[in-house]
Amino acid sequence: MILPIVGYGAPILRKVAQPIDQSYPNLKELVANMYETMYAADGVGLAAPQVDLPIRLVVIGFRPYDEKTDSYGEVTEQHTLVNPEIVAFGEKKDYYNEGCLSVPDIHEDVLRPTTVRVHYWDEDWVEHTDDATGLYARVVQHEVDHLDGKVFTDRLSNLRRTMLRRKLNDIVAGKVHTKYRMKRAK
Ligand code: ZN
Repeated sequence: MILPIVGYGAPILRKVAQPIDQSYPNLKELVANMYETMYAADGVGLAAPQVDLPIRLVVIGFRPYDEKTDSYGEVTEQHTLVNPEIVAFGEKKDYYNEGCLSVPDIHEDVLRPTTVRVHYWDEDWVEHTDDATGLYARVVQHEVDHLDGKVFTDRLSNLRRTMLRRKLNDIVAGKVHTKYRMKRAK
């Protein structure tokens, strides 16, 4: 089931999400819905607060995009992260052009470490520690920020953010068109 995505300006995107335990009901169903929602919106990551749930849960998935046919291939890499914690950051940083399903039509270069070590459980409550690199390292940092009430535009310079103010205000006001369903900020 595709879930509506909460837009920039919604208070839930500013709250620190809470860890869950094994008593959390219907976790696998929720995870499946989050993947479906993410892929339908052409996203590569989705955090539970973006579907209006204040819990520490993230899904990440990558598929090759074919420009000729304007379509996506099979999923090549997928991670479900329950209660993720970044336990180490690599020293090297670089810029990458980020976007966010909660912040439509804004893409900005964000400086972050290129590698991180992340500790988490999957949807079967199997514990993992991954040394993430490349796009995985990038997306996991973006998504864990969501769990801590942060949005990628918070990491831009004051000047950049000022320049984006009108576009951000339009998202808060619901004046934005997306191919996926959005939930107005309450
Ligand atoms: Zn995001």
